Amino acid sequence: MSKTLSGKKVVQSGARPFVYRRGVLHCDGVGVASLAEKYGTPLYVYSAEQILRRFQMFASAFRERPHTVCYAVKANSSLALMRLLARQGAGFDIVSGGELERVRRASAAALKRVVFSGVGKQVWEIDAALRAGILLFNVESEAELDVLAARAKVLGRRARFALRVNPDVFAETHPYISTGLSEHKFGIDIKKARAIYKKAANSKWLEAAGVSVHIGSQIRKVDPFAAALGRVTALIAELRLDGHDIRYVDAGGGLGIDYGAGDFDPEHQVERYAAALTEGLGREKAHLLLEPGRFIVAQAGALVTRVLYVKKNGAKTFVVTDAGMNDLIRPSLYHAHHEIVPVRQAWGRAAKVDVVGPVCESGDFFARDREMVAVRPGDLVAVLDAGAYGMSLASNYNTRGRPAEVLVDGAKSTLIRRRETVREMLEPELLP
Ligand code: PLP
Repeated sequence: MSKTLSGKKVVQSGARPFVYRRGVLHCDGVGVASLAEKYGTPLYVYSAEQILRRFQMFASAFRERPHTVCYAVKANSSLALMRLLARQGAGFDIVSGGELERVRRASAAALKRVVFSGVGKQVWEIDAALRAGILLFNVESEAELDVLAARAKVLGRRARFALRVNPDVFAETHPYISTGLSEHKFGIDIKKARAIYKKAANSKWLEAAGVSVHIGSQIRKVDPFAAALGRVTALIAELRLDGHDIRYVDAGGGLGIDYGAGDFDPEHQVERYAAALTEGLGREKAHLLLEPGRFIVAQAGALVTRVLYVKKNGAKTFVVTDAGMNDLIRPSLYHAHHEIVPVRQAWGRAAKVDVVGPVCESGDFFARDREMVAVRPGDLVAVLDAGAYGMSLASNYNTRGRPAEVLVDGAKSTLIRRRETVREMLEPELLP
C-alpha cells in the first residue's frame, strides 16, 4: 500500500499558510520551490497575511476592553515583520537596547508603545529607553528600580514603570520556557511588591503606572493565565488603596500553538485566552497590555532546506539537510517537535528516518525516528511552524551564515534579509 507523507494532512490543518497546489507546497500564492531556486536554501519563508490575521485575532478577541498588543520582538525580530505589525498599531515588548533600536528602525512612531522587560537591563539600555519615551519599564528587581530612578533623575525624564511580579503560578510547558514560579529568576515576589511600590512613591522620578506578569511560553491551557492575572488584579486593588495611579495591567505573552499534525483552531484558542484573562481581571478596567510573540509568527513561517545526503548507519537512516541547529535550534534545545513536509508532494512507503543538519553535534537534528516517504539528495523539505524562535535564535555556529528570509504577501514575495556571507561573519575579528 502506498502512503503519502503526512504532508497533505499537516498543511491542510487550516492553521498554516502552507498548502499544496498542483503537488507543490505554496506559501499563500507563491510556490516554495521557486523561492528556494531564487534565494537558495536554507531559507525562512513567512506569510504576511497569516501574521496580520493572527494579530487581528487578538484585536477581535479583546475588542470590549482597551488594550494594546505589544508584539514580543524576541520571537522574530525581523524589521520587515515588525513594520508590518507596527502599521496595524502594534506596540512592542523588548528585552534589550538592540531591540529598542529595531523598533526605532521599523517604526519610530511605535516607540511610545514599547514595554521594556528583562532581568538584566544595563544603564545604556535604560538611558536609551528613557530618551525614546517608551510606554513602560517592566522592572524585575528592587535594585533595577533604584537604577531606573537614578538614571531618570540624571536625564531629567520621569520613568513610568510596572513591577513584573512573579505570581508563583505553575504553567505546563518546557522547563526552559516556564517563568512564573518563585524558583525562576524572573519578576519580583508578588508578596513583596506592595512594599516596593510604597518605597518607589518617595522618588519623584518614578511613576508607578502598572503591574506586569509573564508566566512562560508555549502555554496551551489557559487556566494559569487566569490564575496569574487574578493575583495581579488583587495586587492592583491594594496599590490603588495606597494611592498609586495604576493604569496598565500587562498580562505578558505565552499563548501556545499546536506544533503537531492535528486540527488546531487558532481563533478559538485566542477567544479562550481572552475569556481566561477577562475572568482573572474581574471588574478591573485598566488598559490591558498583551505581549504575544509565538502565537503571531510561529505558524506563519517555515524553514525551507535542501537534502544534501541520505546515509545509513547501522539500522538508522539519516537525511542530512543543508539547514542545521544553528538555523533552527528549537528541536536541539527543547526537543521541540516540528512537522517536516516535502516541498514536492511525494507518495511511497513511509520509513523512519532522522532528519539532521550538517553541524558537528549529535544534538543537531530536526526530527528523530520520523516516518517520512523517501527523499533524495536535491529534494526540498519544509520545517513548519518555524516563524517564532527560529531566525531570532539562529547563530553562526560552525561559521555558518544565517539563512535568508523572504516575506510572501499574497502572490508577491520580497527578500527581507539576504543570506549572510563568510566575509561578513569574519569582519568583526581582529588578528593580533
Ligand atoms: N513577554 C515576555 C516578558 C517574555 O519573556 C516572552 C517570552 O518568553 C514573551 C512576552 C513572549 O512569549 P510568547 O512568544 O510565548 O508569546
